[in-house]
Amino acid sequence: MPDEFVRFLHHGRPVWGLRKEQRIHLCAAAPWADERLSGETVDALGVEFLAPAEPSKIVCVGVNYQDHAQEMGHSLPEEPLIFLKPSTSLLDVGKTIHLPRGVGRVDHEAELALVIGKTVGPRVDNDDALFGYTCANDVTARELQKKDGQWTRAKGFDTFCPLGPSLVRGLDASDLSIECLVNGELRQGSRTSQLIFLPAQLVNFVAGIMTLNPGDVILTGTPAGIGPLSAGDEVEVRIQGLGSLSNLVI
Ligand code: MG
Repeated sequence: MPDEFVRFLHHGRPVWGLRKEQRIHLCAAAPWADERLSGETVDALGVEFLAPAEPSKIVCVGVNYQDHAQEMGHSLPEEPLIFLKPSTSLLDVGKTIHLPRGVGRVDHEAELALVIGKTVGPRVDNDDALFGYTCANDVTARELQKKDGQWTRAKGFDTFCPLGPSLVRGLDASDLSIECLVNGELRQGSRTSQLIFLPAQLVNFVAGIMTLNPGDVILTGTPAGIGPLSAGDEVEVRIQGLGSLSNLVI
């Protein structure tokens, strides 16, 4: 049975908890740092949930589903194509995606997100660094991505990385359905078995370049069906076993 960890505001400060249906058991610290529970519990109803990670950086992978490579006109990559989103692009559960003025088309990208639990890097070996999984939306200003020639601006706006709703440990992520719905209409639908580079391969690849800290996030790429968002839309990323990440767009 997978463990479902949530991060939320408790008396005004961010804390972690282990969710068991409608009860949340408060953790002593971030779950990768300390397994112990504090003994206190709260009802999940009315809780203000936060993004379930504490990233110093968000590393993303482009073109990692065969169907998406085809729709973008890319050949299949021989090694992962990575880029960064700033940690400030992170958006808490239930918060609103802001479309910047004057940037043209902004797209949804449903993605399986990995959360790192142990330090791993070029000088630190660790086969056990991947803590768990959650849902992400790699929101992208598509026209700026093409115009700039590199992706920092297109991917880096505040609110462009919705993440959540919970951090799930102990799930077999090798063949999960992944979907994106806009106003309830299916836009992206695939399975994680279509990933070109798998989660463990991605962690190893990134860790060969830069140190990954506990709480860091890797977005594993999006399947086919990317499309534009408009003000007033509700965009939802659903991954089997990881719940639903839903955000309004303004
Ligand atoms: Mg992406």
